[in-house]
Amino acid sequence: MPSTIRTTTLPSGEAVPVLGQGTWKMGEDVRRRADEINALKLGLDLGMMLIDTAEMYASGGAEEVVADAIAGLRDEVFLVSKVLPSNASRTGVPAACDRSLRHLRTDRIDLYLLHWPGSVPLAETVEAFEALKKAGKIRHWGVSNFDTHEMQELISLPAGGSVQTNQILYNLSQRGPEFDLAPWSRQRGIPLMAYSPVDQGVLARNARLEAIAARHNATAAQLALAWVMAQDGLIAIPKAGRQEHVRQNVAALDIELTSEDFADIDRAFPPPTRKRGLQMI
Ligand code: NDP
Repeated sequence: MPSTIRTTTLPSGEAVPVLGQGTWKMGEDVRRRADEINALKLGLDLGMMLIDTAEMYASGGAEEVVADAIAGLRDEVFLVSKVLPSNASRTGVPAACDRSLRHLRTDRIDLYLLHWPGSVPLAETVEAFEALKKAGKIRHWGVSNFDTHEMQELISLPAGGSVQTNQILYNLSQRGPEFDLAPWSRQRGIPLMAYSPVDQGVLARNARLEAIAARHNATAAQLALAWVMAQDGLIAIPKAGRQEHVRQNVAALDIELTSEDFADIDRAFPPPTRKRGLQMI
């Protein structure tokens, strides 16, 4: 992995890059497919070796785009995929994993997440994840869209402490997790993976952010990413279908925010003063 991408450490001790590539909405339109593959490939060339996908995205179509993008590079890539809660049962998890492996054209997923909490008892899903680990089909597992009380329930289960990450909605417009989930996770050394880090593109058009970004000769989207990545134990996974955006996102790693920047950001996007339930898209 090129040394330009900073890393954070999973509970397993493995280092993962703090900047990866999202894939939601990829694989939906055959006319965009080549651009999507080329954008992901460029991201890999520039060192963004963590790719996030899910069985849900384009019903496996995004995983197929990822397979094309990582061809020949499988050992260098850290592959994250997700199982739907409706497939999170003892028999559903291994079947879903096999489908994802077929779509991804690989023999293992590096980090396999439960996409959001559902009705299958968590203990059953965790058992199924552990069985997949033993079978060598996944290397690690984690969760997504889990609020603090759900994380507490998870780590109280046998093997629940093997969770490696919680992927959540977190960006300047959605700072709720800072109230309790982020400190709780940091104390336990469980990195958070921030999805929609540029608020699905909305933050890229924010005038107040643009003004702060101008001090760094950067764009508003780059500042939004730099802010997420400045925090301990946070991994940002922006999705970019355009090569220009991919380049900008990697360059955001070089932005060093000052205390004045942080203060101005807090004025424009105030941190939470009370607990709010975790939001999800
Ligand atoms: P993002 O916040 O990553 O925003 C993506 C949008 O921002 C795209 O329209 C993209 O444009 C644009 N963009 C990216 N980089 C820039 C830039 N430098 N300047 C201007 N615009 C930019 O939203 P997502 O919802 O896609 O979240 C990222 C990833 O997180 C997803 O792709 C998915 O992998 C994951 N996710 C997980 C969820 C979960 O429940 N676990 C839920 C939602 C997302 P363009 O594509 O044209 O380059």
